[in-house]
Amino acid sequence: MPKLSKLLISKRVIILAVIGILLFIGISQFNISLWYVLLFGIITGVVFGKVFCRWMCPMGFIMEMIMGRNPDSKFGAMYQYHKMGCPIAWISGYLNKWSLFKIKLNIDTCKNCGLCDKQCYISSLEPTKYSLYKADKTDPGKSYSCSKCLKCVEVCPNGSLAYKAFK
Ligand code: SF4
Ligand code: SF4
Repeated sequence: MPKLSKLLISKRVIILAVIGILLFIGISQFNISLWYVLLFGIITGVVFGKVFCRWMCPMGFIMEMIMGRNPDSKFGAMYQYHKMGCPIAWISGYLNKWSLFKIKLNIDTCKNCGLCDKQCYISSLEPTKYSLYKADKTDPGKSYSCSKCLKCVEVCPNGSLAYKAFK
């Protein structure tokens, strides 16, 4: 994985905090309409999928601090999986299927180690339905619940998963 991607994924919570605080200041101090925020969330959804919740949302940051931080916590995983947050989450979640950027698997380099599925809160909660590398299962990256934490990409030892627009 390129060093920049690795760095961005490892600093995701800091990026979420910074953008979330800037957005909160913009909304509260400069009276930015929530309609613009909604429009922004939808545009980012068309391009990147459901990135707003885990990379930009002030409420998402607060909720993640309270509930979603511990990857080993079943409660945290359940929160990430089921959250129906707000209209941005609803719309961008359904856009995961059609967004320009997607999580893509290189089957030629995948060693079937299963680390990606263990890290993913979707496939770890529903292993009989979802998998990032098993061809007979549904891709969790295209499901409503994937909020592009990109842990699957980060954890793959072979660089077989990439979040990108084109092959
Ligand atoms: S980005 Fe990867 S690990 Fe995170 S929820 Fe989506 S498929 Fe799962
Ligand atoms: S972590 Fe990488 S190599 Fe292992 S199963 Fe997933 S995609 Fe394949």
